[in-house]
Amino acid sequence: MELTADYLRKCETLAAAVSQAKARGQRIGLRKSTSNLFRPRSQAGKYLVDVRDFNRVLAIDPQRMTADVEGMITYETLVDETLRYGLLPAVVPQLKTITVGGAVSGLGIESSSFKFGLVHETVEEMEILLGDGRLVTCSCRENPDLFFGFPNSYGTLGYALRLTIRLIPAKPYVRVTHTGFTDPDSCFARIAERCAESALDYLDGTIFSAQEMYLTEGEFVQNAASISDYTYMDIYYKSIQRKSEDWLTAKDYIWRWDTDWFWCSKHFHVQRPGIRRLFKWALNSRTYQRIMRLSHSLLPDSGGTESVIQDVDIPIVSAPEFFDFLMSEIGITPVWMCPFKTRDSGRGWDLSPLQPSQLYVNFGFWDVIPTTHEKGHFNRKIERKTIELGGAKGLYSTAWYDETEFWNIYDKPRYTQLKQTYDPQDVFPDLYSKCVRRH
Ligand SMILES: Cc1cc2nc3c(=O)[nH]c(=O)nc-3n(C[C@H](O)[C@H](O)[C@H](O)COP(=O)(O)OP(=O)(O)OC[C@H]3O[C@@H](n4cnc5c(N)ncnc54)[C@H](O)[C@@H]3O)c2cc1C
Repeated sequence: MELTADYLRKCETLAAAVSQAKARGQRIGLRKSTSNLFRPRSQAGKYLVDVRDFNRVLAIDPQRMTADVEGMITYETLVDETLRYGLLPAVVPQLKTITVGGAVSGLGIESSSFKFGLVHETVEEMEILLGDGRLVTCSCRENPDLFFGFPNSYGTLGYALRLTIRLIPAKPYVRVTHTGFTDPDSCFARIAERCAESALDYLDGTIFSAQEMYLTEGEFVQNAASISDYTYMDIYYKSIQRKSEDWLTAKDYIWRWDTDWFWCSKHFHVQRPGIRRLFKWALNSRTYQRIMRLSHSLLPDSGGTESVIQDVDIPIVSAPEFFDFLMSEIGITPVWMCPFKTRDSGRGWDLSPLQPSQLYVNFGFWDVIPTTHEKGHFNRKIERKTIELGGAKGLYSTAWYDETEFWNIYDKPRYTQLKQTYDPQDVFPDLYSKCVRRH
């Protein structure tokens, strides 16, 4: 595709600034307007690459069903644009402020991932800004080492400034059905069965307790019997226990978890009707993130609790065992379940520890646990159990691995090779030191 003059001009400015920073021997960090990181982000002494302007759709091709986008476009903006064409990105992470570049540089998923895989598996091409100011295009044909090495690199090889991603046709509404289960075995058996079903468009689940869990199936429909609205007084996650069938607009389905940050908005008391009524404008992940960041900087950790914010991917065969562990030893509820199936890229994704063509269940749990144990007690337990069950966890939050353990999970020789080729002077930190900080 032909790139716009605006995009090329912005790239030129950025590339020049980055190569000057490199000449000064400065390390590089990102300046963004939003973030969904839950681990400390140290920017001290770094030259901050201002990418806030890389937030646009460059082109949508309804025939090929692709979108060419700038790397820091939020999914909120992107979904608004694609829906004008009756299309949606094949995989849309559940929070409005997640950006396409951020989702690829982590391992983004959502409730269509049982069908389309992870976010990076829906990418056709990327343009990466390297630490010396060079721009490199990569795809499975052009610079394939960078294309297959970039997912899960968390900005330690370069920054994705432009991506071409696949779209799917949407319909105006999504009909959802919530099916309750009282035991995990039948719930996971049903997941395996439904993931083989191509007629289904979306599938995720919610665990309320060891004896109460639901699977939510979503299907695009042209018409709706009635339309629910979970953007204000009604709370989506509570509706799951109340209703067996429901209809949302396609857009509201995509953002159903954003209004209450799944259920984490409870920490801001906005699930109380009296307070909620006054704060319609605040009911979104952008506001919660801002408040959280501010409260962390104003209120230092007072001890007595451990923050457990994790997304853990477990092969479906071991999901019942992880479920039991989670309920008996961690005790956080609700828990989000998102089945996803990796695809076989033919050569693997270098920094992804996930096996190809395998069905996983992502367990997302985000809360604080009162504790008298040493720091990191619960997070370490989760990491050990995940390793034991052949799973992996997202690196967007705190990690406690020691270096040997970490590089047993992630492919050190491949990573070293990628670093030598694309960041030989270590302008960016290395993956272990970036994602695993001593707490
Ligand atoms: C409550 C909660 C729910 C979540 N739900 C989901 C979910 O449903 N689906 C899902 O996929 N994820 C989910 N996440 C995780 C989220 O996708 C990751 O945190 C993701 O990396 C955030 O992307 P971001 O765009 O906000 O990037 P940031 O938070 O700004 O950055 C994340 C990391 O990526 C790097 N990075 C950012 N942009 C780029 C770029 N363009 N090129 C290279 N590196 C870059 C940054 O340097 C940083 O290391 C959830 C997290 C939480 C806390």
